[in-house]
Amino acid sequence: MRIDILTLFPEMCQTVMAESIIGRAQKKGALEVHCHQIRQYTYDKHNRVDDSPYGGGKGMLLLAEPIADCFEHVCQQAGTRPRLIYMSPQGSVLTQETVKRLAQYDNLAILCGHYEGVDERVLEAYVDEQISIGDYVLTGGELPALILADAVSRLQPGVLAEDVCFEEESHFDGLLEYPQYTRPSVWRGREVPPILLNGNHGAIAQWRREQSLLRTARNRPDLLEKAQLTDKERAFLSQALQAENLPENEE
Ligand code: SAM
Repeated sequence: MRIDILTLFPEMCQTVMAESIIGRAQKKGALEVHCHQIRQYTYDKHNRVDDSPYGGGKGMLLLAEPIADCFEHVCQQAGTRPRLIYMSPQGSVLTQETVKRLAQYDNLAILCGHYEGVDERVLEAYVDEQISIGDYVLTGGELPALILADAVSRLQPGVLAEDVCFEEESHFDGLLEYPQYTRPSVWRGREVPPILLNGNHGAIAQWRREQSLLRTARNRPDLLEKAQLTDKERAFLSQALQAENLPENEE
């Protein structure tokens, strides 16, 4: 996958994407990330990228033309037209389902807004979808773009050590992940659940699935509405929740 980030702060994005797992994935060719300075596509002598909104009001807006030119340059460089996503608090809220869908594209471009946002006409002309990272407002689209880029990157083949790493994680199949422990087996008087130490992989897998169900019911009962559970799992959960006096999910 190739990801192009259009931003006023390319160094910030480059620095984050060069670290750790995503950085190593780029070095071994499993992923390409390119960060583009929108300011390079201005034509006035002050390299202005913003102006005040028509109709008055506070703040500045990013101009349409430098963004359009920057994206056209990205298309040329990539040899294709990437799906263009604008990070915006007005977009649909990012979920793992969206991440899985976007991870299927070979080319994504992500536009980071700043100030009061972006001239609406460039969104109409170029942007394929708008994504928010949550119902709050940040100063710029860089952190949201990095969150999206990280989440789709780790689903690319060869980025994580094993695909199973993400398949068992929270939200992949609609549930939260089970609790995990590492050495020592007793830490400050707290023991690792004995089932994890007995080497019975079938029993461990079942315990993990049950813990995953319980944790989701306790922390995020809303997720259970969409999760695919067997009748046996529903019965287990119902019994366990009754014992804890937690409300069962109403369907
Ligand atoms: N005036 C805009 C509004 O009310 O919808 C908010 C602009 S915000 C201060 C500046 C930029 O930060 C946005 O253009 C967007 O790129 C980014 N941004 C802020 N909050 C975000 C969020 N929750 N999700 C995604 N991007 C966000």
